Amino acid sequence: MAVFLEEIRKYRTSRIVAALERATDSLNLDFSQKRSALIKPNLVTGKRPRSAVVTHPCVTEAVVVFLRERGVTEITIADGPGIGLDSDWVFEKSGYTALARKLDVPLVSFNDLPRRTRTWKYGEIGVPELLEDVDLYVNVPKLKTHGYSTMTLSIKNHKGMLSQEDKKLDHQLGLHEPLVEQAKLRPADLIVLDGIVGLEGDGPLNGRPVRSGIFAVSTNMLELDAAAAGLAGIDPREIAHLRIAEEQGLGTLSPEIIGSAPRHSFMRANEKFGRVARIYSWRDPTACSMCIDAFSGAVSLAVKDPRNWFTLAPKLLYWGLIGRLHILQGRHAKLPQAKGKVICFGKCTRDMAKREGLVHVPGCPPTVHDVVKTLRREL
Ligand code: SF4
Repeated sequence: MAVFLEEIRKYRTSRIVAALERATDSLNLDFSQKRSALIKPNLVTGKRPRSAVVTHPCVTEAVVVFLRERGVTEITIADGPGIGLDSDWVFEKSGYTALARKLDVPLVSFNDLPRRTRTWKYGEIGVPELLEDVDLYVNVPKLKTHGYSTMTLSIKNHKGMLSQEDKKLDHQLGLHEPLVEQAKLRPADLIVLDGIVGLEGDGPLNGRPVRSGIFAVSTNMLELDAAAAGLAGIDPREIAHLRIAEEQGLGTLSPEIIGSAPRHSFMRANEKFGRVARIYSWRDPTACSMCIDAFSGAVSLAVKDPRNWFTLAPKLLYWGLIGRLHILQGRHAKLPQAKGKVICFGKCTRDMAKREGLVHVPGCPPTVHDVVKTLRREL
């Protein structure tokens, strides 16, 4: 197997369709027997395409146009956004509701699809029936750094197909090996990477957009991920789930490369904490992304909602600029050494908060409104 690379600088559908046609020739892809397809972009949360947190709708549109030209008639776009998020809200914000309407393609949430129970290394897991039944599963990841998995590419994007309960379990199981086991359950038939604008720094939910110009296509998830990580300046051997995937025979970390794309050294996510001024969010690999993002959600509500301008916003400014605030999440959260006010998020930290007499926001994950309520009361 090989990975096709091309430099693309702008989100233009016709330009991406042309690149897909070149990839098809170069990789000798055959779609003649394919009638149905499921396209899975990365729609982890409700952010605009320009944030580089979600797969740009233009890339997904190009995949739909390209597949239709090849006679694939039953196309569905699907993803299961982060735990606790409303899928309709995520689809709307990320531009996918409008895209689905424009293309007249069903847009569905994995959270609403029937599942089959499958046996895997850790017991039983639910796999969406549609994902198993389509002729073509097209994984369309975004190129992003990640605080726990170093990078999120196609293998990490595949996790979006899990039920909310299985997503939580994934983190408790250590994330890296479960990611590889899930990739084995239903490998993608085609992977189309959106690295035209990638995300560096505090990914996968925050961070900084980078005009990286990377577009990649392959039929092997591991090999595409390895090639893309290399272009982003990260040795794929440093990425635990890619290393394990190679050991498990899912492909090679040194694939054959056809074509070329720019190299750009991505700034990595800090693996100990995310930080804005003097507010620290301490990382624990057992914490789910949505527990981590609950605080950012509360901050953006404090900024946008006038009811918070004179109550919460000044308090956040004080703790961010003069005091010091520590946010903890996850089952193995540890008390930070540095001084400051500590707030524990989610059911996983409930016992610790009780034991240590710390402020606690309940929920699994906590809602942004609960976080706002607690911050208003406790800061
Ligand atoms: S409390 Fe947070 S980290 Fe723990 S399982 Fe729930 S969402 Fe995940």
